[in-house]
Formats: sequence, structure tokens, C-alpha cells
Amino acid sequence: MSDSLFADASQRLEQALKFVSISDDAAEHLKYPKASLAVSIPVRMDDGTLRIFQGYRVRYDDTRGPTKGGVRYHPNVSMDEVQSLAFWMTFKCAVLNLPFGGAKGGITLNPKELSKMELERLSRGYVDAIADFIGPDVDIPAPDVYTNPMIMGWMMDQYSIIRRQITPAVVTGKPLTMGGSLGRDTATATGAFFVIESIMSKVDRLPQETTVAVQGFGNAGAEIAELLSKAGYKVVAVSDSQGAVYSKKGLDIAKIRQYKLSSKGIKALYCQDTVCHIDEHEVISNEELLTLDVDILIPAALENQINEANVKDIKAKYIFEVANGPVSSAADRILEERGIYVFPDILVNAGGVTVSYFEWVQNRSGLYWTLKEVNQRLMEKMVEETEKIWAISQELAIPMRTAAYVHALNRLGEAINAKGTRDYYINGRVYA
Ligand code: GLU
Repeated sequence: MSDSLFADASQRLEQALKFVSISDDAAEHLKYPKASLAVSIPVRMDDGTLRIFQGYRVRYDDTRGPTKGGVRYHPNVSMDEVQSLAFWMTFKCAVLNLPFGGAKGGITLNPKELSKMELERLSRGYVDAIADFIGPDVDIPAPDVYTNPMIMGWMMDQYSIIRRQITPAVVTGKPLTMGGSLGRDTATATGAFFVIESIMSKVDRLPQETTVAVQGFGNAGAEIAELLSKAGYKVVAVSDSQGAVYSKKGLDIAKIRQYKLSSKGIKALYCQDTVCHIDEHEVISNEELLTLDVDILIPAALENQINEANVKDIKAKYIFEVANGPVSSAADRILEERGIYVFPDILVNAGGVTVSYFEWVQNRSGLYWTLKEVNQRLMEKMVEETEKIWAISQELAIPMRTAAYVHALNRLGEAINAKGTRDYYINGRVYA
């Protein structure tokens, strides 16, 4: 893999640029983040000591609208990672035709080491530090890895205190009582489910004859495992950061979820409890889960899980990226050679930001939708864009990832060109 995550992410852009006819100006523009902010956040800890945390926010591109993207709390957060995630958000919002550009934020910490009150002070401190960089018409944060509705509520509240105006549209993924949208908590998985269902119908595969392994049992991973299981797919393996469980016959996902909710990790299932008696299973490692002989593999945890080191052992037929960036660009090429289909993050996990857009629209209009309306609109958008990307992939004989980038680039290129290009000023060329 390249020496930085961003260098690796940029390779996808280079790859897709070969298949589009956007202006050189637009291509150049998309290679750099628009603005990056690094902040130090002082937090008074419960024992009276002061700790300084490092936080970041990157607005990658805002040609198509205010920038949008989550905030991640994780020990590996760095400017390189946040910039890559902001880059992906730019393309993700364009793929779904949302009137947004891309952004991302993060704080370097292990959130499990902080008390709830320390987390609140840190989240409010982060907003104090970035308040001039965000806003309902500028940049709109949301949840990501290890952040949740409560944290989004604190962030919205803090911004409202600073501005002396209740400003729900500055953050999405809020609790329902603070202007959140129905269906936002399950949106990433629900959107991924619509993508998987539309692809499986194209390749004539029935749920009952399809085995699935899911890496990651957070908000997105646990929900997609349960949705697929309810729809009749055989989910044979799931994992969290501690380890994985596997059962050839299929797992009872609802029970495992309940178990995990009672705050025991998946590892605690190891034959000490009722779930273990209901579901016979083997204990395997996260790495073994990735290399299982299943039809569908769903990486729903972190970046760079499938890379040059393990790509040759991957046996799944279809990979649906519910995490952001789980397959490295080098692994992509090898998977393609081996005939394994990869459905990219910027399409598959875009349900989250799509319902974030719906939340922002509801906050601005003051009219709130039913869950049925939210999910209906989500389905229409996910299926429509999946169809378009599938058509591009077939027509140009390129992988779905490159097709998704081509689709996004056409929209981004059009928006950038609308402000004028060298070709327009000098040669009078107007791009179609
Ligand atoms: N963090 C999510 C993502 O990576 C959601 C972003 C949002 O809702 O703005 O897509």
C-alpha cells in the first residue's frame, strides 16, 4: 500500500479519470482539500487533571454545496485519515446526488477510557474549537466510528449556545427529541441492504442460498447482519474488535445483538451462555472471518482490512463495503483479476449520509417525516444510483468502484465547470 491512506485513496481518482472527459481544471481541483483545521482541545478530567486532545476537521470540496461528514473518535485518528475520509465523502455525496460536498472530523482518543462527563466536555470543547469552521450552510458534522446521537446532541447544543440560536441543522444524527430524523440510526445498514438486494436480483441469487460474513458489530455491522438474516440470507459469521463467531448453519443475529447490548463482547459468547446453546458455533479470529468461503463478505469496521497481505486468501464472491475504505487499492486490482466483485463504500454505505440529508431538510423546513417516508425515499435513491453505476460498469467494462467514481466525477466535474474553465475562457469550449 502507498505510504499514506490519502495517497492510496487518490489512486481511485486517478483510475477513474481515465474514463471521464471532465476538464483538467476540475481534475486538478479535486486533488486537494479545500480547508483543513487541526485543533488542541483542553479537557478537565474527572480527577482534576487537564488533558489536551488533538482534533481535526477537513472540508474537502464544497462545489456542490455545504460540506458533510461524520466525526470519528478513535486512537488512530490523524490528519491523513480525516483527509481521506473527507475525500470519500465528497464522492459519496456526489454519487447519491446530494446537494453537499465532503468533509470529515475526528479526535484522537480511546473513547472507552473516558467517563460520560469527560466525553461531554470533550465534545463541547471540540465544537468550541471548530465553531467558525462549521454551520448549517458551511459544514455539517454527523456520527461516525464511536460517536452516537447523544454526542451529536451535545455538539448541536454547544453550537447553539455559541450562536445564541437553536440551530438543529448544524449537525445530523441527533436524538429524535433534538431534531433527529426517524430512520437515521439504521440508515447506513438499510441503505446497504437496498444495494445488496438490487445487486443480488441482477445476478439471480436467492437469499436462502447465499452465505454472508460480517466483520464489525457496531451500528452498521450489527444492523446489516440482522436485516440480511431477517430477509433469509444465511449469516454464518460476525465479529467485533475482540473476535468472531462462525456457524455453518447460520447464526441467530438478534440474540447475539441482545447479548452484545448487555455490554459483553462477542467473545463472551464462547459457550458460557444461552446463545451458545441455541447456536452451535466456532470461535475464530477476525482475520479468519475475512478469508471464509462465503458468498458475501461485508467489512463493516475500519479501513485497510483487505490488503496486499491477505487478499490472496479472500474466498468470497462479492464484497460489499459497509466500512469506509476497507479494501486497499492494491488489493482492489488483485480482487478484480481473481473475478471477485467489490461494491464500493461510496455507494454501499451512503444510506447514512442520505438520511442525514433528509434530517437537514426536515430541520430547515420544520416538517418531520414518518419512518415509512424516510425509508421509501432512501430506497428510491439507493436503488436509482445503484442502477446507474451498474449501467456505467457494464457499458465501460470497468469495476463497480471505478464506475461509482466516474458517476461522481461527472457530477462534480459539471459543477466545477459551471464556474468556468481555461477551455471556456480561452477556447470557448463548454463541457457537456
Ligand atoms: N459517517 C457517515 C459516513 O461516513 C455519515 C456521514 C453523515 O451522515 O454526514 O458516511
